[in-house]
Amino acid sequence: MDGRAPARQALTSNPFDDDKLREECGLFGIVGVEEAAAHVALGLHALQHRGQEGAGIVTYDGARFHGHRVLGHVGSGFSRPEVMGQLKGRNGMGHVRYATTGETVLRNVQPIFAELDIGGFAIAHNGNLTNAQLLRRELVSRGCIFQSTMDTEVIIHLVATSPFRTLTERLIDALKQVQGAYSLVILANDMMIGVRDPYGVRPLILGELKGAPILTSETCALDIIGATYVRDLDPGELVVVRDGKVESHRPFRVTHSRFCIFEYVYFARPDSDLEGRSVYEARKRIGAELARESHVDADVVIPVPDSGVPAAIGYAAESKIPFELGIIRNHYVGRTFIEPTDHIRHLGVKLKHNANRAMIEGKRIILVDDSIVRGTTSVKIVNMMREAGAREVHMRIASPPTTHSCFYGVDTPERSKLLAAQHDVAGMAEFIGVDSLAFVSIDGLYRAMGEPGRENKMPQFCDACFTGDYPIELTDQLGGEVAQLSLLAESA
Ligand code: AMP
Repeated sequence: MDGRAPARQALTSNPFDDDKLREECGLFGIVGVEEAAAHVALGLHALQHRGQEGAGIVTYDGARFHGHRVLGHVGSGFSRPEVMGQLKGRNGMGHVRYATTGETVLRNVQPIFAELDIGGFAIAHNGNLTNAQLLRRELVSRGCIFQSTMDTEVIIHLVATSPFRTLTERLIDALKQVQGAYSLVILANDMMIGVRDPYGVRPLILGELKGAPILTSETCALDIIGATYVRDLDPGELVVVRDGKVESHRPFRVTHSRFCIFEYVYFARPDSDLEGRSVYEARKRIGAELARESHVDADVVIPVPDSGVPAAIGYAAESKIPFELGIIRNHYVGRTFIEPTDHIRHLGVKLKHNANRAMIEGKRIILVDDSIVRGTTSVKIVNMMREAGAREVHMRIASPPTTHSCFYGVDTPERSKLLAAQHDVAGMAEFIGVDSLAFVSIDGLYRAMGEPGRENKMPQFCDACFTGDYPIELTDQLGGEVAQLSLLAESA
């Protein structure tokens, strides 16, 4: 779900529009339970890691829709009885999202709700549409009035103006016009709909709680309420959930699945299973591949918590070098990367981690982290290790160098800010101040996923952030050029 203001030409002079990227979302919907809103709030709480700056819940009580949206965490927004008491009904769905700070972005928090001629329609989106700006321009020229800057709103207008009769037909008609990555949960009166784009870039899972069907982004959101996992939706699958039954449709041409590999590397919670794989085990296997590919003699393997922990466990087991918690994380600080400004991001790193000197002083250490994006975290952590007396600092990264921006729903900065787009590995090592630096190879990453390697057959994943191979057209990118920077500059 992209909240970017339209690029190329400003469609609106609204001063509240901004050009910040704010994607990364989590979805949860359930139909047919008492206190649906409480179930949704718990599910969203489990998905908080997928978006920490805004959350919303919409419910349906058989006659009316109710909704509440907040900036901030699910726990603070949806704990008060007066809020939860308003969200009546046995059907509900919600969304967590990354957003920029400030009062003005509340209108960009999902689910978005519209009263259509066929009834109420609430939609929540994980992903990012890549032709939304083009479609939006066309819709605006046809007289549509947009309430937000979110790409998701395009889908509402396409549904509203579709010539088809039923909601499902209209939705299919709308989605045939959009490009990009989308997992959607829609609540329309007594019906819930879930859809995954034809490449299945973002996850969407079907679960069940005592006969009440659930659609959600990750299995950890099922665990929190004791629900059971049924299956992952297939790429290009649309399910209609009504009267406790799940009806499956396959209206889109599916070429082949390109699930986001970064969900395994970093984004999903380690206690989730995605597409039949345990995220935790996948991360451990990446760590083991990394140890095989780039061995170095050292005294201890130290994870950068929390994101580097499973890979470091895999690395230590494979290399037979002891694993130690050499960095302690303060859990009362949010994820560094998600803070909106560089200034706060720098501050966040200092707030978040502390060296465990007893495990570091005088030692040759291997630091394991999941990824390097701007390099900010690595610079701080490496300095911290040196200050704590490390004799040698070797850094091992459980993903290939992040050389390209994601346009499919993971918040990454523009290429000019990606360390790996600016330097080779030696240059990066110098920048972050380590004795050695190595990344797992793209083939190693595929092997860790149980695949033969990227070169041997058609890629099974979207790995555009590591390879620049974007499986879905980037129609909105200027002149076909994959450059977020120029896009942002034009919209500013
Ligand atoms: P950086 O400091 O910019 O190099 O960011 C790297 C750190 O941010 C790594 O330790 C990752 O755990 C984390 N990270 C990587 N990608 C993302 C993302 N899209 N959103 C939030 N955090 C991320």
